[in-house]
Amino acid sequence: MTGTTVTAEREQELLQSVPTGLLINGEWRDASSGKTLDVHDPATGKVLLSIQDGNSDDAMAALDAAAAVQAEWALTAPRERAEILRRGFDLVTERAEDFALLMTLEMGKPLAESRGEVTYGSEFLRWFSEETVRHYGRYFTSPEGKNKMIVTHKPVGPSLLITPWNFPLAMATRKVAPAIAAGCTMVLKPAKLTPLTSMLFAQVMQEAGLPAGVLNVVAGSSASAISGPLMKDSRLRKVSFTGSTPVGVRLMQDAANNVLRTSMELGGNAPFLVFEDADLDAAVEGAMAAKMRNMGEACTAANRFLVHEDVAEEFKAKFAAALGNLNPSRGTEADSTVGPIIDSGARDDIHQLVTDSVAAGGQVVTGGQPKDGDGYFYIPTLLSVGNDNPILSEEIFGPVAPVTTFATEEEAIELANASQYGLASYIYTKDVNTMFRVSEQIEFGLVGYNAGVISNASAPFGGVKQSGLGREGGAEGIEEYTTVQYIGIADPYAAKK
Ligand code: NAP
Repeated sequence: MTGTTVTAEREQELLQSVPTGLLINGEWRDASSGKTLDVHDPATGKVLLSIQDGNSDDAMAALDAAAAVQAEWALTAPRERAEILRRGFDLVTERAEDFALLMTLEMGKPLAESRGEVTYGSEFLRWFSEETVRHYGRYFTSPEGKNKMIVTHKPVGPSLLITPWNFPLAMATRKVAPAIAAGCTMVLKPAKLTPLTSMLFAQVMQEAGLPAGVLNVVAGSSASAISGPLMKDSRLRKVSFTGSTPVGVRLMQDAANNVLRTSMELGGNAPFLVFEDADLDAAVEGAMAAKMRNMGEACTAANRFLVHEDVAEEFKAKFAAALGNLNPSRGTEADSTVGPIIDSGARDDIHQLVTDSVAAGGQVVTGGQPKDGDGYFYIPTLLSVGNDNPILSEEIFGPVAPVTTFATEEEAIELANASQYGLASYIYTKDVNTMFRVSEQIEFGLVGYNAGVISNASAPFGGVKQSGLGREGGAEGIEEYTTVQYIGIADPYAAKK
């Protein structure tokens, strides 16, 4: 289907194949309230599908199911869990076009980007299938030479996984795959704006052989109605959340009362540093990827372009020209390069940030307006701003690139660190020594060196400061779902001494 516009019949056929219920104990059920929830297409504002609207009772039934099979699931052979994950990878890959189109319909990104997310998101299934069978503990002799010591890992237990709307497949696989690998059962709560991809994914994992009760999915109109009672229940042992910092903070407060393990992937405000020796064409290409992927609706999105004053004018001219060539249109259109913003409120928030930035002295180089017509499109925008402009301290979450300048490396580092967030950062320079000095001194969990996109299932993803706690992916990802047990063994030579 590459390069073609998708037909209405194809869209309907796919939508009708998506399960719309709540997945509890291996069965797709209706919500206990009898209520439904509409899911919209952000490119048109029209309803795509109505799904079951889960509430507290449904969430509790899901936790009952997860808790009931936890002990048995924890004892399954690692190879069995690995093969379920691997079959999940194969099935998602076979249905890549369905997943891509579904994400484009409910979230809006162009099909080419959705296909990229299928590749990225499915890889967590393959990566963790490989990690499952190579997750070892330690055996050693105590320093005194008497006891033998075993350190082993056990699944942390039933986990609540809460995902955002911006990467509907990858945010789910990044949590579900390591939880399966570790032997945890779970309740997945997808975002109400984009729950369909998670439902199709859960159905695929059933086909892959995941036993009933291991993965339960409850979507609903009230996130706190679903999470609230679970967070108070002593059977829940872990919450893994990806979303905004204020919601993450609230969940951590709730988690404290029940002493739950937490993983928090929160907001970002990524600096994109361009030094005077950088290859400017490569920097603009990287800037386009780091800013425009997902319409800028990414926690890793470059949010502050900090450019050396000697090359700033040339960088801005090239970057503005590239932004101006983009084509905001429904993601199913063959020539779409930018999809809509997720909803009208989010688009209004983006425009307000631009308006406030201009009021504070920022200049619009290109864009600066919502696009007229159906859907929630915003024209890709470049702002030239002073380094005290208010937009530099906000997570924009949209296709708006504020550019400011620095004169020295020290100033660049200071500006980069002038944020409460510490998730992604980008450095463009030909000098590897500059990269080492700067990456050592900036407070970010991820650094892209001459690269605008660095997320990869094999690498630990996560932030510092208000961007969160814990890591997803890499060798580290599975540890988030395990707890450590130490077994101390009496001296086997004692009787001989
Ligand atoms: P959000 O509003 O915080 O929502 C994220 C998830 O939390 C959704 O499932 C949402 O449910 C749920 N939620 C909202 N309020 C809740 C509450 N009181 N109790 C329990 N759950 C609650 O964030 P978003 O707008 O979806 O996503 C954008 C944010 O996510 C940005 O800040 C972005 O940087 C961050 N993000 C971070 C990463 C990362 O890896 N660090 C990755 C992607 C996104 P409903 O949507 O159903 O209400």
